[in-house]
This record gives sequence, C-alpha cells and structure tokens, in this order.
Amino acid sequence: IVKMKGMNKYFGKLHVLKDIDLTVEKGEVVVIIGASGSGKSTLIRCVNGLEEFESGTLEVDGHPLAPKSGNPKSLAEIRKEVGMVFQQFNLFPHLTVKKNIMLAPQKVKSTSQTVANATAERLLNRVGIGNQADKYPSQLSGGQQQRVAIARALAMEPRLMLFDEPTSALDPEMIGEVLDVMRELAKEGMTMMVVTHEMGFAREVADRVIYIHEGQIVEQGKPDDVFDNPQNERTQAFLSRVL
Ligand code: ATP
Ligand code: MG
Repeated sequence: IVKMKGMNKYFGKLHVLKDIDLTVEKGEVVVIIGASGSGKSTLIRCVNGLEEFESGTLEVDGHPLAPKSGNPKSLAEIRKEVGMVFQQFNLFPHLTVKKNIMLAPQKVKSTSQTVANATAERLLNRVGIGNQADKYPSQLSGGQQQRVAIARALAMEPRLMLFDEPTSALDPEMIGEVLDVMRELAKEGMTMMVVTHEMGFAREVADRVIYIHEGQIVEQGKPDDVFDNPQNERTQAFLSRVL
C-alpha cells in the first residue's frame, strides 16, 4: 500500500532522509525506531504529503506523489485514505468529542449528520469512551483525548494509519489504554506505520521493525530478530540504550 523508492528529503542543506526504500504491504504493522532527530517523523509525514521530498518516488494506495509540490489530486486522495495520530492530540478545543469525530466525514465525504453521528458513537464505544461524547477535549485525560484522536482518524475509514509517538505526551498510567486500542486495530488487520519508543509494544505487535539512523534505514526485520540479534552496530548501540 506504500511504496517508497530512492527517496531523499532535505531541510535546506540538512539531508534528512537518504535513499529510503520502503514498502508496506496491506495489513502490515511497521514500527519505526531510532534516535531523536534521525528522521522518523519526517519519514511518516512524507507518506501523507505533510512533507515534500526532493527526489525518488512515493506511491500510497496507487496514488503517486512526485518530488516537490507533488500532485494535488493524489494528495487529496491520499489525505482521505490515510489517518494520522500525533504526539499532541490536536483535537479541536471548541468542539465536543463527538463533533470532533463527525467533522471530517461531513466536510470531506459529505456524510450525512445522522450517519456521521452513528459512526462517531460506534467509534467512541470502540475506543472505550462512549460515555464522554458530549464533553470538550479539555475535560478529558490525555489518554482519553488520544483515544478520541484515534477515533477521529478512523471515522474517515482510512486504509492506512500513521502514528507518530502517540503515547509520548501521556502520563505513564495512560499509555496502556492507548496501546490497547492500537493493538486491537492491528489485530483487526489495519495497516499501520508507528513511530514509538514503546519497545514492548513494538515487539508484540509489529510485523516488522525498522531502525533509522541519520536518515537511513540501517536495519529492519522481524521484531525478535531486530531486538534479540541486531546485526548493525548502530542498532546494537541504540537498543542497549533503550531496552
Ligand atoms: P524525534 O525522535 O525527536 O521526534 P525524529 O526522528 O522524528 O526525532 P525528525 O523530526 O524527522 O526526527 O527530524 C529529522 C531532522 O530534521 C532533525 O535534525 C530535525 O532537526 C530536522 N527537522 C525536522 N523538521 C524540520 C523543519 N520543519 N525544518 C528544518 N529542519 C527540520
Ligand atoms: Mg519525531
């Protein structure tokens, strides 16, 4: 569903992504790990066109994105099909939880009020906060807000979900409830690209773990192989710091 080939990305003179080749199959859960500043966020932001890139090719669910300025038509299609969840929940503060979830389907897909409402209720139950629908985001805990953010992304019926450190801003006791929702999604067959420092989650849920060092994929494989028997010395050094 995602095909990157020879992709390079610069911020000015800074070469942030170097010759990235990466394919993600439908239903696959890919976890991306690496040190701060290695390019993890930039990589997944490229997938839904939040960042442009300078060279290489990228195709998301059959929609090609060209280097620079991209392809507006593909971009619009990709944004409809790719859900994203950030470290900061980015909910609309002036809308209730339920309205947060209803907004995009109504605006982008012209979903009727009735259908959007029913979908929002179903999704809120699914992420375990069906009773919070009429509250405002500021009235919820961080873990609850992040589950709303996931429900909001799911309301667009995405074919791919991107997560950029979804639990990093949460108090420790709330991390589990968000990881549980992600684990369920993975079980149901959602295709996911996840940047996370939760190595336990990576080991348990990932089909493949990718280690990025200074903008390059230096190692990838099944979680048990990468965690128990890393081949690259950079990966070994990183894992010895975080495990
Ligand atoms: P972290 O684990 O801290 O989130 P990361 O692996 O997600 O790090 P990125 O955010 O992708 O790293 O950043 C990669 C590099 O690009 C860093 O050196 C960062 O300073 C730089 N960078 C990121 N965004 C921009 C930007 N908008 N303009 C200029 N430089 C940027
Ligand atoms: Mg990041």
